[in-house]
Amino acid sequence: MKIVYIKHSSFLVELEKHILLFDYYMDGELPKLDDNKEILVFTSHKHSDHFNLKIFNLSHKYSNIHFFLGAGVRFNDKYLKRNEIDIDIDKYITTLYKRQEIEYHDIHIRTLRSTDAGVAYIINCENMTFYHAGDLNNWCRESESDDYNKKMKQDYENELNAIKGLHIDYSFVPLDPNLENTYYLGMNYFLSVVDTNCVFPMHMWDKYEYIEKYIQNEGAIYSDKVVRISKPGQEFFY
Ligand SMILES: [Zn+2]
Repeated sequence: MKIVYIKHSSFLVELEKHILLFDYYMDGELPKLDDNKEILVFTSHKHSDHFNLKIFNLSHKYSNIHFFLGAGVRFNDKYLKRNEIDIDIDKYITTLYKRQEIEYHDIHIRTLRSTDAGVAYIINCENMTFYHAGDLNNWCRESESDDYNKKMKQDYENELNAIKGLHIDYSFVPLDPNLENTYYLGMNYFLSVVDTNCVFPMHMWDKYEYIEKYIQNEGAIYSDKVVRISKPGQEFFY
């Protein structure tokens, strides 16, 4: 299988029979996909660094496609028309709410509630488990009040405790340099509660040097799990 780092929190996972595309938000060209495979597009929430309406144009090119949208991604017909999106796109869309579990064809999808907006995804596909956090993270930062940080930590930990001990093959988790001294807290807690083979840091605003900083310091005990991403378009084979 192949995992492609697209940019920011967007990844493409290509399996034998399925393609999973996460949080694609670019305005430009859409990725070229293998149309013999079932294409599943996951959007965690509506923020512009995770979602772009143009993603729906993939349905013109690929018939075997379905979109999963985290709660809060909403639009009416007028808005779709103005953005030149077919108004019958609905038939390709499933909206998912916090802590939901669904079966879609031969895939199992479970959600967690984000501490920001929308959901995180846990997906079982072709006998593998994938976790994409979206913006579910511990967004504590020194510039926030103690109350805010305390509640943030609690909310994040509560949500992850729901999947304590879960085995996940491939995880995608924020490691956000904008948080400054607290950039690693969400990642560390995630790695301390679940059992994942490997984790792709994301939501990095192109500051990939934070991966090495993390591996050398706060994340040293997890260094063998952390994938060293260095540029958009990078491919990883497993
Ligand atoms: Zn974001």
